[in-house]
Amino acid sequence: MVRIGVLALQGGVAEHADMLARIPGVEPVWVRTAGDLESTDALIIPGGESTAVGTILAHDRRGQALRELLLSRIQKGFPVWGTCMGAILLARNIRNDHRRHLAVMDIEVHRNAYGSQLDSFTVSEPIEGLEGGPFPMIFIRAPVISDVGAGVQVLARHGGQIVACRQQNLLASTFHPELTEDDRFHRYFVSFVKK
Ligand code: GLN
Repeated sequence: MVRIGVLALQGGVAEHADMLARIPGVEPVWVRTAGDLESTDALIIPGGESTAVGTILAHDRRGQALRELLLSRIQKGFPVWGTCMGAILLARNIRNDHRRHLAVMDIEVHRNAYGSQLDSFTVSEPIEGLEGGPFPMIFIRAPVISDVGAGVQVLARHGGQIVACRQQNLLASTFHPELTEDDRFHRYFVSFVKK
């Protein structure tokens, strides 16, 4: 059994956990504390509000303990996938925000980059490493990945902008695979957790 945590402080936790539960050999774990994180092999940081979750991780006593453990595990190669808000939390730089959260991934994001009129939309684009054709991508007040460092592999783009990328044990995407019926991206994450 591979135990995959979903950071459960705020945001779209249940949808990720439900999708993980459909994959044979995977057990989803709701992660609220450092103790919960301890028992996991990998973590998904879901969509939500980066300001809210960032505040808990920075200022709440239990949040701080969770943050410290997560940072030290990431340095040792612990796999983390940030979706939407999760990508913002992982980013080394946020173009239009003075806050920095985990700042472990060599990417820059631009929050709410699609503006208010296009708050939510769905497209289909190929993702490198996923077979079976283009992947349905749902964007909800999404950021764009506005810059990546040399060690970051771009996995998908939409309209020329980066929407998914990977840096060794860290994966970031700006859309919401957990809101579709397509579990290929979750399976991809599970496969690299197993390696
Ligand atoms: N707009 C949110 C933020 O900036 C992210 C949106 C999402 O995760 N769906 O934190």
